[in-house]
Amino acid sequence: MTVINKCKAFMLDVVFPNRCPFCGDFIMWDKHICSKCEETLQNANDMICRKCGKDKCVCGEDIQYDMAFASFFYNESSVSNAIHRFKETGEMNIAEYTANDIALHMKSENIAVPDIIIPVPMSRRKQRKRGHNQAELLVRCISKELDIPVRKDILFKYDTRDEQHQHSAEERQERVKTLFHAGNADLSGMTVMLCDDVMTTGATISECARLLKQLGAECVISAVCAVTRLEKTLSEEDV
Ligand SMILES: [Zn+2]
Ligand SMILES: [Zn+2]
Repeated sequence: MTVINKCKAFMLDVVFPNRCPFCGDFIMWDKHICSKCEETLQNANDMICRKCGKDKCVCGEDIQYDMAFASFFYNESSVSNAIHRFKETGEMNIAEYTANDIALHMKSENIAVPDIIIPVPMSRRKQRKRGHNQAELLVRCISKELDIPVRKDILFKYDTRDEQHQHSAEERQERVKTLFHAGNADLSGMTVMLCDDVMTTGATISECARLLKQLGAECVISAVCAVTRLEKTLSEEDV
């Protein structure tokens, strides 16, 4: 954080006290998560397959991206609630924590910094209604953290009436192919980072990666705040 941003965060904290996005407890103005949640929430980046991004490897399936990062598991209710608030209010703690966590993992795994970073696009109609695209907010944080230029002139989403989550997994897989389109750009030889708030089946990110590869991208890296677990956790089995 620059000095000006630090001052801003401190001043804001006086008026709107900083809270942990997962449990709501008050935290210091320069923290993104409370120490209790940081200890108890599993870090997905330590557990997922780096290629397919899932906790149970599905690399054999048709996946168009080459590498995937995620900081949290979406199945934990405190995480899905935090993501919901991030979508609705644009509250940045979860995005800032994720950006920092992904940067640390990339560094420790010696992964080169991508050439450009792109948000999974939202339709213009939806973005107007919501006021922001949460994928774009995560892009802003990672771009600052790793110093990568942002490109919003490459991928676009068509305006559609109904929502992806009203469909079954198979329907989503087919339908996703009609949701996005790419502009004219030459991405020859480039490594592109593609960001979204959540990866569920991975169909959306895979389709966007396919479009980027048609433009010449050599490597597409997915980066999300949270990924849906495939394996059931012990607590889920207990229920
Ligand atoms: Zn907490
Ligand atoms: Zn895998």
